[in-house]
Amino acid sequence: MPELPDVEGFRRHAAATSLHKQIVQVRVSEARMLEEISPQSLGRKLNGRQFERTLRHGKYLLLDTGDGYLVLHFGMSGSLQMVSGSKLPQYTRVEFHFAGDGCLAYLSRRLLGHIFLVQDRGELVEKKQLGPDALAVDAERFCERFAEKKGSLKTALMDQSLIAGIGNVYSDEILFQLPAHPRTDVHSLDGKDLRKLYNTCQRVLKTTIRHHANPDEMPSGYLLPRRNTNGHCPRCDTPLKKIKVGGRTAVICPRCQRKGETSKKSQ
Ligand SMILES: [Zn+2]
Repeated sequence: MPELPDVEGFRRHAAATSLHKQIVQVRVSEARMLEEISPQSLGRKLNGRQFERTLRHGKYLLLDTGDGYLVLHFGMSGSLQMVSGSKLPQYTRVEFHFAGDGCLAYLSRRLLGHIFLVQDRGELVEKKQLGPDALAVDAERFCERFAEKKGSLKTALMDQSLIAGIGNVYSDEILFQLPAHPRTDVHSLDGKDLRKLYNTCQRVLKTTIRHHANPDEMPSGYLLPRRNTNGHCPRCDTPLKKIKVGGRTAVICPRCQRKGETSKKSQ
């Protein structure tokens, strides 16, 4: 599922390819991708306009239309691709065609993403009950929010209303880098632990964005390229293990991430 680093990649792609071009047609081949708007209304709203800038909040990409924002969410398998010519990629569901040549294609294999309009970022935050963006949030606010939270650390990291942008894959990476067991109780973390958690979140998000959220490009000490291959821990070579945490599957190194041992061990 596209998480903050993936969506940041889509944002940069849209910013590099699709700004300041007149939109001449919007084609919707799967109306169920649209939320609270019909294909006809979306076309009427966007035709003749241009995308003026891009924003991202958590896993949401916002394209400024000059009169509100088009919001794209990528569900489990979505992506965005600028295409020229008439051949569209497989799973193209919505197309934004520009004057001249070029079309920004919204792809979704499993039809789980959604597209809608908001007036501003505040409306998106309210509508989807989002916390601050995980990359933009400052240390103080991050620590305050986590200090009030109960439950497992992994579940808290993935809670979009606490901070927005981190999902299953990147919460595993953050907990591996910290290191901490995903079932660690958030309440057991003191101020110093929370500060370390914040710094690790920032470092992992920035590093993975720099490496284009591509598992094949990750630094050698990262879990990401090994998580789907029955891999071994890049630190101690112990076989990685899958465990259930809050209904989700976490990948951990059972030796580096022991329950009851928080980040204090490695300080
Ligand atoms: Zn290990």
